[in-house]
Amino acid sequence: MLMRILVSGAGAGAGVAGPVLAYWLTRQGFAVTVVERAPALRKTGGHAVDLFRPAMNISAKMGVLPRVEERATGTSRMTLHPEGARRPSGWTSPRSSATSPASAPSSGPTSGC
Ligand SMILES: Cc1cc2nc3c(=O)[nH]c(=O)nc-3n(C[C@H](O)[C@H](O)[C@H](O)COP(=O)(O)OP(=O)(O)OC[C@H]3O[C@@H](n4cnc5c(N)ncnc54)[C@H](O)[C@@H]3O)c2cc1C
Repeated sequence: MLMRILVSGAGAGAGVAGPVLAYWLTRQGFAVTVVERAPALRKTGGHAVDLFRPAMNISAKMGVLPRVEERATGTSRMTLHPEGARRPSGWTSPRSSATSPASAPSSGPTSGC
């Protein structure tokens, strides 16, 4: 018997988590419906976000990473100046030719997408 699952509630509409959960549940053979309270997509034209390593890994497993990378905005360097810190820290894209003394945090973004 086909099991039906409703993905709804705070933090699980049609944001990032809801559709990703629906994707994996569907692959497991469930019939999934995602409910979103917003009546339509926001017409902002989009917004650049940093894709951190776990999101990159999941995107790769879902087969959408090439499409995500096609839309990369090309951020080459990010520098953080935490209040009270002696030195700035940051991250430089492996694709960038820019040199930086900044160390690359393991949880840092791997692409400016
Ligand atoms: C300004 C800003 C910048 C950010 N930049 C980054 C970034 O660069 N990189 C990064 O990784 N993260 C970033 N984040 C964090 C990222 O946006 C969140 O971690 C992510 O959106 C969480 O996804 P989600 O699907 O859990 O929740 P959401 O994106 O909040 O999606 C939840 C969805 O559920 C819907 N919903 C809520 N309640 C109900 C209900 N009762 N019934 C039906 N639908 C409902 C909402 O309308 C919404 O569409 C940023 C956040 C902000 C605010």
